[in-house]
Amino acid sequence: YELHAMGDLLPREFFEENPGFFRMNRQGERAADWNLCLSAPGAVEYVCRRAVETARVLKPTTGRYFYWGDDNRPWCHCPKCHSLSDSDQALLLANHLLEALREVDSGAQVAYLAYANTLAPPEKVAPKAGVFLEFAPIHRRYDVPLAAADAKENRGNLELLDANLALFGADTAQALEYWLDASRFSQWKRPSVKIPWSREIMAADLDTYGGRGVRHITTFAVYVDAEYMAMHGEPPVEEYGDLLYRWPAKRG
Ligand SMILES: [Zn+2]
Repeated sequence: YELHAMGDLLPREFFEENPGFFRMNRQGERAADWNLCLSAPGAVEYVCRRAVETARVLKPTTGRYFYWGDDNRPWCHCPKCHSLSDSDQALLLANHLLEALREVDSGAQVAYLAYANTLAPPEKVAPKAGVFLEFAPIHRRYDVPLAAADAKENRGNLELLDANLALFGADTAQALEYWLDASRFSQWKRPSVKIPWSREIMAADLDTYGGRGVRHITTFAVYVDAEYMAMHGEPPVEEYGDLLYRWPAKRG
């Protein structure tokens, strides 16, 4: 289970009954649109209870839990939350989820998703031991390696990766890449384009992550399905696996 989960953890239908659990927008109104209010008494407990219920049904084999905030959506602007950035609010929730999940799974770890509006590291909230970095550089370029010196988008992402690693540590950190994400390369519109696959770029990216001590590597592969294969043939999944298989063990 690895999803933007807030709509499941705090069902939007619950708004009429308890609007105070929901975020305040910039207009000062409670809104049943995205995320939650972390300062509302009982809201965090409610969401944590739902996360634990989900974990009982969908228990990961790795001990690593991925309950993401809503997809690139704002967090709470109420008087109590507004001094915390989206990143800080997302991490605060991850810290609470960790505590709740550890009551039923003592080895639980919880992802902090660094992505889009939470790509910059949190500044006011510190991660509890057991919260790990998941880094998803959706706005980087894929026609050059992540570490390409002349690509400013990638340079910015790399700087934020390093800033996040300084906070969360590299040992447990995970990259969530887009090398095989046909949906992203298609601007999330079907029919899907062919994945602009480059073995060299992925290999260079692995060195970039590995050189920083990151050993958990994943990629999206949305739209890689029967329709994709009918149009474009075999996707480079085997080559992706082969690169990971041959990736040298951690150096130093
Ligand atoms: Zn709030």
